Amino acid sequence: MEISLAPELEAAVRVVGEPYEGVYLVGGTVRDILLGRPNFDVDIAVEGDGIEFAHVLAAELGGSCLPHGQFGTAVVLYGEGQHVDVVTARRERYASPGALPTVEPATIKEDLFRRDFTINAMAVWLKADDRGRLVDPFDGRTDLEAAAIRVLHDQSFIDDPTRIFRAVRYENRYGFCIDEHTEALARACIEAGHVGDLSGARVRDELTLLLEEADAARSIERLGELGLDKAIHPRLAADEDAATLFARLRELDAGYELDVPSWRLGLAALARHLAPDEASDWLARLKLRRRDAQHVASAIAVGPHLVEQLRGDPSPAEIVSVAEPDYPDAPLFALGLADLAPLHAYFGSLRDVRLDIDGSDLAELGLEESPRVGEVLAELRRRKLNGELDGRESELAAARELMEQ
Ligand code: ATP
Repeated sequence: MEISLAPELEAAVRVVGEPYEGVYLVGGTVRDILLGRPNFDVDIAVEGDGIEFAHVLAAELGGSCLPHGQFGTAVVLYGEGQHVDVVTARRERYASPGALPTVEPATIKEDLFRRDFTINAMAVWLKADDRGRLVDPFDGRTDLEAAAIRVLHDQSFIDDPTRIFRAVRYENRYGFCIDEHTEALARACIEAGHVGDLSGARVRDELTLLLEEADAARSIERLGELGLDKAIHPRLAADEDAATLFARLRELDAGYELDVPSWRLGLAALARHLAPDEASDWLARLKLRRRDAQHVASAIAVGPHLVEQLRGDPSPAEIVSVAEPDYPDAPLFALGLADLAPLHAYFGSLRDVRLDIDGSDLAELGLEESPRVGEVLAELRRRKLNGELDGRESELAAARELMEQ
């Protein structure tokens, strides 16, 4: 197999040799090279002492090595923020489903056997003579050609149920299909309740990755078909409506350049039937950052109210007063639920309406620092939104008038 050698791989190849014979490129990069897709991750597995190899590689690259002794892994940092991940080839043992495994050094074949799917369980030799030779003990290449996602053994999902989310992610990304037996194993694992054993943080990480992919709306329906939604929380709904809503939210987010992370929109779409308390509890279990959790919670709880409040013909100032406090997720979610003109007006222009004057102008007019400053500015903005003010002079005149009242 021809591998194009990025500088870090060139360096890796230079330092491979006694005593670092068994050095391999592993994981998703191998898969993506075979698929002809770009992948900028470089994951290297070493039979022997991965950390020692990482130190040598760091010296060769003029970078530094961050070892993780406990796991036999290291990150080599070099250049302008580039990195290479190095692992000591290892085998894993799972004490219980969903728990993290204990690990021991092992051969590359054993290391590949601990991986999730055959398409991710291939390695490429980096040692000079064998450079580019594919190590493919589980026929990953055949599965890649057949567009099949297949586990390496029947216990795989029970060892680590997050692999089911990963399978859905790869199905969507590559247009592959989970192989029939693998899907039966996934369903059995879900029905046995093992997904419920996962920590909230692990579920969060998987959902986030899945929802950030392009076309993730399809993955939402797949979550529902497999019953993963109910396995995570009995009132999550990964159905066609959720997928449609999510796709629409993403489109609106991009159209209005809001930059709300897709995963936040996806979580809100999935959790839209949860009562506010249930949603807050669930989001707390996922251990999201507080600000993110608040945004998702407000989309679910406030979004539908905004739809009701903004039906009819509200004034621009009314639109802003209800939409702004929960900007941006709740008004965006409301717009996803109902295509209301006032919300288009809000995102299209009203949210950017600012006064030309500020508190310092009011101070110059003689208004001392006090709550009254905020009140006057709020009233001026209300008037400006409703088209009653135009430019700095008219704002100053209105401010004087308000101060005299
Ligand atoms: P992506 O392009 O999504 O990052 P990737 O294959 O590079 O795909 P990573 O999550 O970076 O995915 O993981 C790197 C490799 O580690 C995978 O290719 C796979 O071999 C292995 N791996 C990752 N997560 C698991 C898991 N939960 N169980 C088993 N093997 C895993």
